[in-house]
Amino acid sequence: MKLTFAGTGSAFCMAADNFQSNMVLETIPSGDELPQRLLIDCGSDARHSLRKLGLMPNDFDAVYVSHLHSDHIGGLEWMALANYFVFDGHRVELITAEELIEPLWEHSLRGGLETSDHGNSKLSSYFDVTALKPQDGFSWNGVSFDVIPVPHVVTEEKTMLSYALFGHAKDKSFFLTTDAIFNPEAHMPYYRKADIIFQDCELGPRHSGVHAHYDQLVTLPDEIKAKMWLYHYQAYDKPDAKADGFCGFINPEQSFDLG
Ligand SMILES: [Zn+2]
Ligand SMILES: [Zn+2]
Repeated sequence: MKLTFAGTGSAFCMAADNFQSNMVLETIPSGDELPQRLLIDCGSDARHSLRKLGLMPNDFDAVYVSHLHSDHIGGLEWMALANYFVFDGHRVELITAEELIEPLWEHSLRGGLETSDHGNSKLSSYFDVTALKPQDGFSWNGVSFDVIPVPHVVTEEKTMLSYALFGHAKDKSFFLTTDAIFNPEAHMPYYRKADIIFQDCELGPRHSGVHAHYDQLVTLPDEIKAKMWLYHYQAYDKPDAKADGFCGFINPEQSFDLG
């Protein structure tokens, strides 16, 4: 099993050589089997980042959605319509927390997808929808996932959650924070038990309060930083993460062997 970062940028990253933080989890088949692919988030520039990896929308069997910001879902209309019209109705399983299904359709996708070649399309017209109860997690090709609701945007009126993933692959476990505030108390059990951590990391002078900032992450215990890779960063000059005890910043198109 291999995890490849199609991009490692933040939502607003304007670097010429990076894309939003979407990932491809891929089986490594033996013989003449075809690889199976799970796309983890499908942002508004997935069309370009996946093309750069040589992948088309029908190369995926499933897509997981962590939350409803457009760097995580803005490419779903493209994926839906391209598969429906260009790739002979190829069906992709759309896996997400059940509480996101209705707002994903009503507030994000319905405007572009409801009327295509007929006038009453639904999310299920394009995707095989799997509505998760986060506490149940899910399995995909031998990897079992815990789905962990994490606060992402916290206001006085409302908290927007993202759904982080803790994956148990054959040889390695990994914690993929998705977009989350710095929350060391809540994350520490996952930080401790993971073999490898993929951590949302904000850079630059502004602390948005909706992502963990590098200045906060650098305060984590050494043994946690020693297995932590950083992604979802803006196009600022990067600090020397290795010197600060991290594994480093993930580069776009970098892959990780998960056994
Ligand atoms: Zn994001
Ligand atoms: Zn977000």
